[in-house]
Formats: sequence, C-alpha cells, structure tokens
Amino acid sequence: MNAKKILITGGAGFIGSHLTGELLKLGHNVTVLDNLSSGRLENLREYEGNDSFRFVRHDVSEPYCEDFEWIFNFACPASPDAYQTDPIQTTKTSMLGVFNMLGLAKRCGARLLQASTSEVYGDPKVHPQVESYWGNVNPIGVRSCYDEGKRVAETLCSDYRRQNGVDTKIIRIFNTYGPRMRVNDGRVVSNFIVQALQGKDITVYGDGSQTRSFCYVSDLVRGILAMMGKDGFPGPVNLGNPGEFTVRELAEIVIGMTGSKSRIINLPLPSDDPTVRRPDISLAKSELGWEPKIALKEGLKMTIAYFEKELTKGEIK
Ligand code: UDP
Repeated sequence: MNAKKILITGGAGFIGSHLTGELLKLGHNVTVLDNLSSGRLENLREYEGNDSFRFVRHDVSEPYCEDFEWIFNFACPASPDAYQTDPIQTTKTSMLGVFNMLGLAKRCGARLLQASTSEVYGDPKVHPQVESYWGNVNPIGVRSCYDEGKRVAETLCSDYRRQNGVDTKIIRIFNTYGPRMRVNDGRVVSNFIVQALQGKDITVYGDGSQTRSFCYVSDLVRGILAMMGKDGFPGPVNLGNPGEFTVRELAEIVIGMTGSKSRIINLPLPSDDPTVRRPDISLAKSELGWEPKIALKEGLKMTIAYFEKELTKGEIK
C-alpha cells in the first residue's frame, strides 16, 4: 500500500485510536481530529513521538480545511450514556460532522469512510440484520439523536456519492469491545467487567434476555481497513461478530472469568433498548473476505487484563 495522507475524526476515541495505530504501522501519515468530549489523549500517547502522526483538537461540527486522500469519519460519542448526555450536540456531531467531511472530501477528491452503526436497524424486526433491511427506529426517542444522526449521515454519504461523485463508503459497526474503553464508558462490556473486578453488583438492565453480538476491536479494525482499501464497493456493510449472547449470559461469563463474588441485580430496561441484535456478515465475507477471528472469551480475557490495569491507576477517567 502506498503511504497516504489520512484524516481520522474521533481518532482519540476507543475505535479511532486503534485504527490510528494500525494505519501508522502500515506507514501512513495520520492526522487525528478530536474535540476530546469522549476521546482521550491517553489513547494516542504511544503515537506521540511518531513523525507521521499529528493530533488537532477540533470539533467536527465546525468545518476543517486541509487536503487528505482518505478520511475516516468516526467522531461521535457511541455509548448510550455519553450520547444521551447532550443529545442535541450528538445529532450535530453526526449531521454537521459528515456534512463538513463530505464537503472536504468533495473539494480534495478524498475517499471517505463513514462509521455508521447497527443502531440504524433500531429494534429490528429482521434477525439477524442484513444490510438490505431498512430498520425499525423511533424518530423521537432518547436514542434517536444517535440513530437518526447516523441514518442521516448515511443519507448524505449516498447523496454526495450520487450527486457529486464523492467516493464514499459506509460501514455499520455492531457492538465492539476491547482495551481503551473508558472505565466509566457505560456500555455493557465495560460496566460488567469493572463491576465484577470491584466486587460491585452487576447491573443487568431488564431481565437480561435481550441479545447483543460482541466484536473484539482488532477484528473490527481489520474489517475497516479491508473496506477502505476496496475499490468500487460503497457498502453499507455490516462489521460485527455474529456470535449472539443474552446480556445475562454475558454477565455470567464475566463473573466466571473474573472469579468475582458480585451478584447480578436487575435494573429497569432503558427505553427503546433493542431486544435482539446480530449481524449477518455474508456481505463482508464475500466482498471483503473478512470475518472476525477472536471468540468472546478470548477477547474478554484481554479486556479484563486491560481493566485490571486501569483500575490500579486509582482515578476513574
Ligand atoms: N446493559 C446492561 N447493563 C449495563 C449496561 C448495558 O444490562 O450496565 C444492557 C443494555 O440495556 C443493552 C445491552 O446491555 O441491552 C447493550 O448495551 P450497551 O449500552 O453496551 O450498547 P447498545 O447495544 O445498547 O447500544
């Protein structure tokens, strides 16, 4: 691969920072744009001395002007806790962010990859979810800022592609976990591991029968790179691990693996919480030759080790 000049918005976040690391390893020149609302400089610390790496503190809802060959648009808080804290800003980040990045891609002829989400399927009536399914999303609920923000981002990518010939690509990311998630991120994998390690109650929302499919971050990043490197395939394409678990099963696995004495308690189910979720990855397999390799327990082992270290730092960031 020729060295490319690359922009990653949200590059200080959980997925964005892993992507940054892989692109630097491949010899690319990477600029990270992040307003640090949920991203952390700590995630980028190991790249700081690298001449091919640069960090710019910037909010993607404001225009940014510089030429790039590849743009990865990842800026947006992704944990329900985080994106519901300032829902108006969440919609602005997705909507104005993709507008600004598509405008930039159009001006400098860049390829743009949009990080979309399984949330575009809402509470799905088709299971597992295939890309051709249009979804079942509440437009006025507490998750809408994220779901509809990402849906309109997909619309804009598709229209800039049709109307202006911008080389856009859409990936739909399913639940992802791994090192660099924040201790207080609020998502289920980090919550359960941190609670188990601290001997606190494991907070299962609802009766725990809802399902999710968990992809280890390095598998996801491989899929992202395969998609970006593929010509003539705009997507959308699902990227996720098709192994499906109930939330209660996840709690039991985490308790077993940590040897924790934590009890499982049930708290109210948040509104519009999808009842099932599992990607159909046939398209990713056939178009990209991609599928995840890391089984849940293997990924959890590495993630538990990461959180054990984080918790010895004492302070929760
Ligand atoms: N969940 C839970 N306990 C927690 C956090 C989340 O039971 O402490 C549940 C949540 O209600 C949802 C699933 O775990 O059904 C996944 O939640 P997460 O916030 O990780 O992501 P989502 O897939 O909902 O965006």
